[in-house]
Amino acid sequence: MRLKSLTHHWSKRSNRVRLGIFSVALLPQFLLFFLGYFHTIFNEKQNLRTVLELGDRQMSSLMRAAEITLEDVKSHLTNDLDETSINESHVRRLQKIVYEDPRFREIGIVNQDGYLYLTNLGVIEPPVLLSESNRSDPLREEMQIIGPVTTTVMQEQSVIFALPTEDQGEVNLLVNPVILNYWLGLNSLNLGPDGYIAYVLDSDQEIIAGTGLLPRNGVLSSQTPDRSRIQLERRLEASDITIVVDVSKAWVLGKWIDFWKFGIPLSIASSLLIALFGSRFFPPQKSLEGDIPRALFNDEFRLHYQPVVDMETGSCIGCEALIRWQHTDRGLLFPGVFIPVAEETKLIVKLGDWIIQKAIEDLYELLIEHPYLYLSINLSPIQLVSGNDSRRIVNHLKKYHQISKNLIFEITENILIEDNQTNIPKALLDIQDQGAKIALDDFGTGHSGISYLSKLKVDYLKIDRRFITDGELPVHATSLLEGMIDLGRRLQVTLVAEGVETEFQKQGLLKKGVRYGQGYLWAKPMPIEEFHQFLATHSQEVQLPSQDMKLLP
Ligand code: C2E
Ligand code: CA
Ligand code: CA
Repeated sequence: MRLKSLTHHWSKRSNRVRLGIFSVALLPQFLLFFLGYFHTIFNEKQNLRTVLELGDRQMSSLMRAAEITLEDVKSHLTNDLDETSINESHVRRLQKIVYEDPRFREIGIVNQDGYLYLTNLGVIEPPVLLSESNRSDPLREEMQIIGPVTTTVMQEQSVIFALPTEDQGEVNLLVNPVILNYWLGLNSLNLGPDGYIAYVLDSDQEIIAGTGLLPRNGVLSSQTPDRSRIQLERRLEASDITIVVDVSKAWVLGKWIDFWKFGIPLSIASSLLIALFGSRFFPPQKSLEGDIPRALFNDEFRLHYQPVVDMETGSCIGCEALIRWQHTDRGLLFPGVFIPVAEETKLIVKLGDWIIQKAIEDLYELLIEHPYLYLSINLSPIQLVSGNDSRRIVNHLKKYHQISKNLIFEITENILIEDNQTNIPKALLDIQDQGAKIALDDFGTGHSGISYLSKLKVDYLKIDRRFITDGELPVHATSLLEGMIDLGRRLQVTLVAEGVETEFQKQGLLKKGVRYGQGYLWAKPMPIEEFHQFLATHSQEVQLPSQDMKLLP
């Protein structure tokens, strides 16, 4: 029942792996998505700045044209003119100007008393008095823009370009606001449902041209900055006009989301594909972790034993238990494939239990004929990290206390150092308290086994097979090996060389003072039955690997 729920738990875990890949695959796309947001806002601002720049150019050119026209009218018509001397030729002259430039609707001339008396439409008889608000300030010299106002004569909305004359009258040009928008290129702008662009007179905030959601009264109330909107303005040079543009960020983002309407499903789909295919790349891990509880239940794990030999006499003094998995679909699996998975999933604790139990059972059998034999069991640090887990090992030892002296627990040097702060050192001491021994595995490959050696009395050092070669070792490796051998001797720790494959290697090690070895030179790891046979021919002269190795009671 418990195994079943474990299997279920780990299949859920493999879904989590997929979810992990999915999230990781999605991450850059989310980043792009967020970057896209800022990029869109930035881009929109750039676009609007271009719009303002263009608007500036359009208005400036329009004002120049108006100014030239008005100067022309002023110099040719007002000097020699008064209400009494005007005639049809003057009207035609004005008409010609208006026809020549389609931007202008009407040209008028106003006397110093504010009476409009001549336009391109004809002589105004009697002259019409213009209201103050429709007139330029006669005290200023430059052209002024007024408007939009409803003209007195035609009763139409117009923007007025007015140039005062020396006699304090004015000449003016009327422009239809619709035409003005058109000429300024405003009609083609898309600024969203509540965006607008406006040419505003600085003096009274009156809007002389613009498009979008403009205030009905034609006056732009002073703007308070709004973070939900993009608001930009540009003051036109040598005029009292500012162009203001204002669009909603939500609308800009809407355009961006429109783009992502395809982008988001597309990116999620591609991440899903990556997650699906990605998890295919790790099938052993994916299925193995789910398989371990089942394999324990179905008894698919095996322990093989590799002899440890006294290299001087050739007799077998012990063995190392090495796990194998007779997988129903995948055949024989080696620990390198599934131990990391078991460690990652913490299933190693359960598997470790089985290993210890099985090794002890086998050891009982072996001790019947070979009472001096010792047996090594590899421990994963995961089995020692928590007090609860390490207590399981101690409990095994308590239960089988008669043989605990024949047991060695191997632990790799690297992990010990890294986990110096954890329960591991205490767990190892507890194990030693039960009479079992501790071996430092893969010695010479870690960072600093020495610092650990000062804290705990290790019983065995297993010299890593990287130091065992037929050829010359690199100089630093040779001195390391000699250092390790020297250290072993000083600390009275038994040295075992791993991975001895040739007679030459064996002789070299013996010469250096290493007495015990393990490797293909004698045998590969083998099932217990074969190991019994091996012992039958290799156990004549038993040598104890260390002084405190006692006979079984
Ligand atoms: P290890 O503890 O260093 O085990 C020695 C490895 O070297 C074994 O590989 C063994 O088959 C191999 N070997 C022995 N003699 C020679 C030789 O002369 N030449 C060469 N090239 N190789 C040799 P194996 O059985 O594949 O085990 C690999 C590792 O898996 C072990 O390294 C150990 O760290 C781990 N492992 C094995 N069994 C267990 C176990 O029951 N529990 C745990 N936690 N780990 C285990
Ligand atoms: Ca080992
Ligand atoms: Ca080793």
